[in-house]
Amino acid sequence: MRPFWLQQALDQDNDAVCLPLAGDERCDVCIVGGGYTGLWTALMLKEQAPQLDVLLIEADICGAGASGRNGGCALSWSAKYFTLERLFGAVEAVRLVQESERSIAAIGEYCAANGIDCDYRMDGTLYTASNPAQLGATDAVIGALANKGINSFERLPLEQVQRLAGSARHLEGWFSPAAATVQPGRLVRGLRRLALQRGVRIHEGTAMTGLEHGAPVQVRTRNGTVRADRVVLGMNAWMARAFPQFERSVAIVSSDMVITEPCPELLGEIGLDSGISVLDSRIFVHYYHNTSDGRLMLGKGGNTFAYGGRMLPVFDQPSPYQPLLRDTLSEFFPALAQVPVAASWNGPSDRSVTGLPFFGRLDGQGNVFYGFGYSGSGVGPCHMGGQILASLALGLDNAWTRSGLVKGPLGQFPPEPIRYLGSLLVRNAIRRKERAEDRGVRPRQLDVRLARFAAAAGKADKG
Ligand SMILES: Cc1cc2nc3c(=O)[nH]c(=O)nc-3n(C[C@H](O)[C@H](O)[C@H](O)COP(=O)(O)OP(=O)(O)OC[C@H]3O[C@@H](n4cnc5c(N)ncnc54)[C@H](O)[C@@H]3O)c2cc1C
Repeated sequence: MRPFWLQQALDQDNDAVCLPLAGDERCDVCIVGGGYTGLWTALMLKEQAPQLDVLLIEADICGAGASGRNGGCALSWSAKYFTLERLFGAVEAVRLVQESERSIAAIGEYCAANGIDCDYRMDGTLYTASNPAQLGATDAVIGALANKGINSFERLPLEQVQRLAGSARHLEGWFSPAAATVQPGRLVRGLRRLALQRGVRIHEGTAMTGLEHGAPVQVRTRNGTVRADRVVLGMNAWMARAFPQFERSVAIVSSDMVITEPCPELLGEIGLDSGISVLDSRIFVHYYHNTSDGRLMLGKGGNTFAYGGRMLPVFDQPSPYQPLLRDTLSEFFPALAQVPVAASWNGPSDRSVTGLPFFGRLDGQGNVFYGFGYSGSGVGPCHMGGQILASLALGLDNAWTRSGLVKGPLGQFPPEPIRYLGSLLVRNAIRRKERAEDRGVRPRQLDVRLARFAAAAGKADKG
């Protein structure tokens, strides 16, 4: 069974099936992975060089990974400003925050111009505190953004926060208009349709089983080989297992979500009638928004950790955390306590040490490029990823190819089993700390200290 969003998109999708690769193919650029990263890259390549022969292979169907099952919150990198400044300096940090905001608007413009109906609504986002311990958590970064003249957030009166967010659980709120929500499955399937229209050759059900450097590069699959001048790897969480050199660059962690049956009248009554996304200030945030067909979707990251970056069967099953999410939903929205949950699901996020994606040349080769590590925040940033990877594949010298983002992973997690055991230790400490804070009790010092290990997570991360 497919996750809710993807299934909904497939039900409305009359597009041609893309058959698996059979035999040997030659192309200019071979893209591996049919999520937002691979598809934006393909589309941007075709836009800049329409004559280029681009072939994309996808192990399952386009959108089967994170792109067809995420929370649909397209957020900027504003909340990551301190990390960006520490890693890349103030000038590049400012540029990246602005680019991340531009990408959100650009996705909407692109969908409108190309007939992709993905329920794109640029109604902004609210960063809130859902218990007293979170109060003030966003102030410092907003101060820094204001200092640089790039702050899009304004503090709203509490009554307005609670009305916009549809819940009295919120104790403060900062609103930014520079954010959107989408139906993620319809976005990724729309990009696929457009890529096909632009002449990108797509083979679904075609996993890369090996890659051999050279000119051309050989991408091996079970029933054939693609020889390509350049290769772009947009495989997200799967990179860690496919290429041992990245095993410690990301931790694979689930985000889990539930979506209700339609209840538009109730949502209207509590005030949640726009496409706004709402995120509180936990380390593993609660995030939610409504849908235009009157449902409420609520998610939470940081639940299931995968040992050694393995893709666990649970990532393709209903969320084991559904009861917890259901309780949270009822706590935040007592009026929705009786509304049935239509579906729950989860999926793997590729959390990097910095909380930012990274890009580079595989094994230092000048014709194989990769990008992943979006850390649960890729709906908007994958559009930047597409610009970076298209620029690299076209051999351009521009702000994207010169960016510090293109220096590969900027940190490593400890080796297994330390990473796995450490992740669980920190996760459990965060849970105890946040439960205590929700009850208004002081958390244990040890839990507070352990929780700091996850501080790099950043507010807007959902993995
Ligand atoms: C449950 C969940 C909720 C999230 N919520 C949000 C959110 O609300 N907002 C936000 O900004 N971000 C969110 N994210 C993150 C966001 O979805 C991702 O960052 C983004 O979709 C990554 O896109 P991608 O194309 O890089 O990866 P993917 O969409 O995962 O695509 C990678 C593709 O590569 C394919 N593949 C893997 N191995 C091979 C191979 N060997 N050969 C061929 N193909 C292969 C996979 O099948 C997959 O389709 C969430 C992620 C998850 C999992």
